[in-house]
Amino acid sequence: MSLVTDSPVHSSSSDDLASYLDAHLASGSTGSSGSSADDETDDESDHESERIKRHKAENLEIPEEPEGSTSREYSEQIVDSEQSVETTINQDSCSHPGSFGGMCMRCGKSLEEKSGVTFGYIHKGLWLANDEIARLRKTDMKNLLRYKKLYLILDLDHTLLNSTALTHISTEEEHLRGKVDSREDISKGSLFVLEHMHTMTKLRPFVRTFLKEASEMFEMYIYTMGDRSYAQEMAKLLDPKREYFHERVISRDDGTQRHQKGLDVVLGQESYVLILDDTEQAWTKHKDNLILMERYHYFASSCQQFGFSCRSLSEMETDENESDGALATVFGVLKRIHTIFFHELEDELAGRDVRQVLKTLRKEVLEGCKIIFSRVFPTQFPASHHQLWKMAEQLGAKCTVDLDDSVTHVVATDAGTEKSRWAVKEKKSLVHPRWIEASYYFWKRQPEESFSVDQKASS
Ligand SMILES: [Mg+2]
Ligand SMILES: [Zn+2]
Repeated sequence: MSLVTDSPVHSSSSDDLASYLDAHLASGSTGSSGSSADDETDDESDHESERIKRHKAENLEIPEEPEGSTSREYSEQIVDSEQSVETTINQDSCSHPGSFGGMCMRCGKSLEEKSGVTFGYIHKGLWLANDEIARLRKTDMKNLLRYKKLYLILDLDHTLLNSTALTHISTEEEHLRGKVDSREDISKGSLFVLEHMHTMTKLRPFVRTFLKEASEMFEMYIYTMGDRSYAQEMAKLLDPKREYFHERVISRDDGTQRHQKGLDVVLGQESYVLILDDTEQAWTKHKDNLILMERYHYFASSCQQFGFSCRSLSEMETDENESDGALATVFGVLKRIHTIFFHELEDELAGRDVRQVLKTLRKEVLEGCKIIFSRVFPTQFPASHHQLWKMAEQLGAKCTVDLDDSVTHVVATDAGTEKSRWAVKEKKSLVHPRWIEASYYFWKRQPEESFSVDQKASS
């Protein structure tokens, strides 16, 4: 078990939690109950308690750093938890903040009926009570805000990278086998083969810069629907020196709901969390935190899986652009949100909500546009439920079904419809639906002439 981070300036509730747990575990092996919370780690616990003591001593000696360091809170918290275990622990009065293997980590009582959440990615068999989670979130929030950091949850597939089974590599992709990067220095490469998983993985352009710079502004988590071993392997490729994620790698094995991702397993308060993911349906409860990413399809199998018949980036021997690709674009947005949150909002820091900032910023993109759709949706389909309608409204456009002179844009795929012809006659913008999508993903109103309907219809 190695949970305590060595970085004194690192602020994370899960890191703090780790030290807290270590303190509890260490005391458990010498405490009045005499029983360790985890039989298998008896030896380790002793060893661990030595290390913790050392760590505590080190922490307590660290003077307050000028740029602000969490070390003080960090050591205070360890001292707090130490004090709490030095008092006699009564099973009846214990609040049972959490458990390992079914036993309360504070008093040792066997806990069967419990309300709370499992945090297996922090420690196998760890469960925390709701009150304890709330407490940790609050502590962490204060730390993070002091360092002007928010939380960022990152999806893996199609957001930060693209993977394919080796057996699915197409004939046109064979050239890739000669271009695979060595795993000797992972931080220099972007195309890897993981033989034992029969997988080839391509990192999205700009991802290394993205992680490095975003880590200055955010406490980052990986959250994938892949299984734990896949998540860990990908984390090694993205973060070979374990600088960014530490133990904050959440896989589908750690979620509380099937086919859904949830912030319940994240130790950050929802109002300070942003999510980057290409799959909106994974986050039905947290749409307001989500920045939807344009999918990164590098491999042919990925295109096929999503029903595209075009050639993949790998087959065309090209890639997304480093400097203005999806990750570079979204990085600019994150930076803007961060600046607004910490430097432009005037209300009290603790009351700020990053979801509100995200919403406001997005609404600026198509501000002032009034859109009418022409035969874009199936006839019986309620227009306002359509993804494009919702996207346009999120971007600040007004959508309507009534054609009048206040309409600025007609969105259509066919230049021959009545409304399309009206647009041309009245000198309104006639654009392809992709104009909305592109504006959405690029966070910028796209030039209408690049999305003209004639051109798209004939291509
Ligand atoms: Mg994904
Ligand atoms: Zn207890």
